[in-house]
Amino acid sequence: MPISFRKHEEFFTFHDPMQDEKLIDRKTEIRFDPLTGETSRIIFDPGAPFIPKDYSQLAKETEGVKCPFCAENVSKITPRFPDELVEGGRFIAREAIVFPNLFPYSKHNAVVRMSNQHYVKPEEFTEELIADSFKAAHQYIEKVLEFDNQTEYVSINWNYLPPSGGSILHPHIQVLASEQPTNYQSAITTNSHSFYEKREKIT
Ligand SMILES: [Zn+2]
Repeated sequence: MPISFRKHEEFFTFHDPMQDEKLIDRKTEIRFDPLTGETSRIIFDPGAPFIPKDYSQLAKETEGVKCPFCAENVSKITPRFPDELVEGGRFIAREAIVFPNLFPYSKHNAVVRMSNQHYVKPEEFTEELIADSFKAAHQYIEKVLEFDNQTEYVSINWNYLPPSGGSILHPHIQVLASEQPTNYQSAITTNSHSFYEKREKIT
């Protein structure tokens, strides 16, 4: 059974004061996830440009000794894994350093400190920096799955900068592993099984 990507277009009709009260149609596109049926809405004119905020001032106020992930602190004050998981307590891949989340929300919960630099503007992230961080996260996941055979569900999560709820400016990602799925993992697993069963019936 091939995967098909479906979309639906809708038009909203109104008189536009910006165009001499002309009657216009504004399009919205709805795209469907073929696995879960969830939808996303695509808008073609948001009305105002998105201008990324500059956090340089906040970076100056929070970097160095005030930041647990900066070079002065990262190897001194971040927690360590038991030596059975990794000798020395932390996974290291160039600038990426993996250590336990002090305030976990899963059975296994690591933080990957991505860069030496305290504030990396979104356009400054390099492929190497991102690849190293994700490789380090994978290294941790592989060890956890080897170490704890009850654990089945894993995820790598990244929210960056204050609007995303990131509490520390210094680039970092979270790695979670648990016996229990999140809502998203549960939906994906259930829908993947039913997709597989339907495909088996057809082929
Ligand atoms: Zn920092």
